[in-house]
Amino acid sequence: MNYDKDMLKRFISYYRPHKRLFYLDLLAAFLMAAIELCYPVFTTRVIDEYIPNGMLSAILVTVAILLGLYVIMAGLNYFVNYWGHVVGVRMEADMRDDMFKHLQKQPFSFFDAHRTGKLMSRIINDLNEVSELAHHGPEDIFISFVMFAGAFVILVRQEWHLAVGIFAFAIPAMIWFSVTQRKKMSLAFKGVREETADINAQIENSLAGIRVAKSYTNEAHEIEKFIQGNRRFRGSKNHAYKEMSFFATGMGFLISMLNVIVLGAGGYLTYRGTITVGELTGFLLYINLVMQPIRRLTNFTQQFEQGMNGFARFEEIMRVEPDIVDGKRVLEKARGEIEMKHVSFDYNDKEKVIRDLSLVIPKGRTVALVGPSGGGKTTLCHLIPRFYDVDEGEVLVDGINVKDYTLNSLRTAIGLVQQEVFLFTGTIKDNILYGRPSATDADMKTAAENAHIAEFIDGLADGYDTWIGEKGVRLSGGQKQRLSIARMFLKNPPILILDEATSSLDNESEKIIQKSLVQLSKGRTTLVIAHRLSTIRNADMIIVLSDQGVEEQGTHEELYAKADGLYKRLYDAQFSLESNRGIQGELNE
Ligand code: ADP
Ligand code: MG
Repeated sequence: MNYDKDMLKRFISYYRPHKRLFYLDLLAAFLMAAIELCYPVFTTRVIDEYIPNGMLSAILVTVAILLGLYVIMAGLNYFVNYWGHVVGVRMEADMRDDMFKHLQKQPFSFFDAHRTGKLMSRIINDLNEVSELAHHGPEDIFISFVMFAGAFVILVRQEWHLAVGIFAFAIPAMIWFSVTQRKKMSLAFKGVREETADINAQIENSLAGIRVAKSYTNEAHEIEKFIQGNRRFRGSKNHAYKEMSFFATGMGFLISMLNVIVLGAGGYLTYRGTITVGELTGFLLYINLVMQPIRRLTNFTQQFEQGMNGFARFEEIMRVEPDIVDGKRVLEKARGEIEMKHVSFDYNDKEKVIRDLSLVIPKGRTVALVGPSGGGKTTLCHLIPRFYDVDEGEVLVDGINVKDYTLNSLRTAIGLVQQEVFLFTGTIKDNILYGRPSATDADMKTAAENAHIAEFIDGLADGYDTWIGEKGVRLSGGQKQRLSIARMFLKNPPILILDEATSSLDNESEKIIQKSLVQLSKGRTTLVIAHRLSTIRNADMIIVLSDQGVEEQGTHEELYAKADGLYKRLYDAQFSLESNRGIQGELNE
């Protein structure tokens, strides 16, 4: 993994708001380490001095002091455990906030390229590890340093040969083992995190599509896909635990060996009379104390690796600058004139979806766009509110390039109703108010009436508070579309784009919705894309697109009068098709 200095700096910057608490946490950790270091000193003194000299009261005093110290330590321990974690959690929450805000800023193209499940995994899992590192990391380093230094000073003063031997050979060997082993282990855990993100994304996708899976009776296929992902996940976890076990076993063994060596060498020195029995006991106690910082350090290296990996993945997203740059001019009270000048656009530098297209939509008029499926009509709609930016040419609203406007004011002025309606999980009210959260209940009801859905809502037991299920699964297609239109009435934008808003609906729903759409488009500049040509007959102008750009342009009457025009052919083809289905009567209404 490559973490540079800047990344570390940015990581540290997240400590800033929680500095005070963090320093307190470190202070408490320092005091804990200091208290731990006292115990062997007291033990040595009790064994060497108080016991041989029969100083019972001194022993009792020592016990009382230790008792007091351990009570204090319990308090410190609680503080470090609780408040230390709180620091980590707060930092994690800050990062999560930043990431979510950052995601909200990203344009459509970002979400075309990133899987939802993976993004979720980054926000939830990866940052979790960062939080652990944030507080354990500095604490571990700090406590380890204090304990190493303290133990070293005390041991050297007692018997420097043995102390130097331990600190010069045994401990470096253990650190070497843990550092090399840690690398393998963290690599394995990185694999686990990648598989976790994968399996998360897969579950998210499978569950989102469960209705399709069931209708195709493809449950078995979904299960098979899942089992394979899950097997990879299991494999990577097994591998990680294998490395972890090897590491833990190795460390345990080395610690035991160190104890044996100290007992052997110390026993010999005691036998020779170089050190006292109390000092030997103190030595053994210290060796075990020193193990604690080693454990902490290895723990730290692992946490550092994981946390920094998580942070790197966090940074990877944070570094993606939205490629749509906000403009400065505020579009206020838009007149609603739209113009496209020689616009070209492609999604991925391969094939142009729109090539050198020019058109004008005068203010307050309704212009219909007709063209082959896949011809780029939806794409064109997305260029006006700058969901994507044009590659060449320009899009103008009220005579000014849309790139000059603030995204907020531009998008406030434009309402887009699409074939596929997205409703948020919640109530009917939540979803209508999404158009203008500050709207009053009366406004909301008027909007519902205009969208011809008020009657339906009033008939429901819970009325506007009816729960519509995830993404509105409890509503029919027509009801969903009418809700989205009510939402648009509330938003009340001067520019309206209707992108095949009724294409997926049955005739009955389409007729009702058509009525509300006509009402909605009154007094607004409207761009309509309709699949069924009968619905756009009344448009002020119809633009017929082909691969070559604008093919024909005019009113229905003008275009239909052209003997061999493209529009006439399309219209006649559709008309005969529909009359074959026996709905000619409806069309003639
Ligand atoms: P229409 O609305 O006229 O049916 P679209 O604008 O939806 O057509 O699509 C035009 C072309 O652009 C199609 O070939 C489609 O495959 C491609 N396309 C649409 N959306 C994307 C996208 N997000 N990324 C890449 N290609 C896309
Ligand atoms: Mg489309």
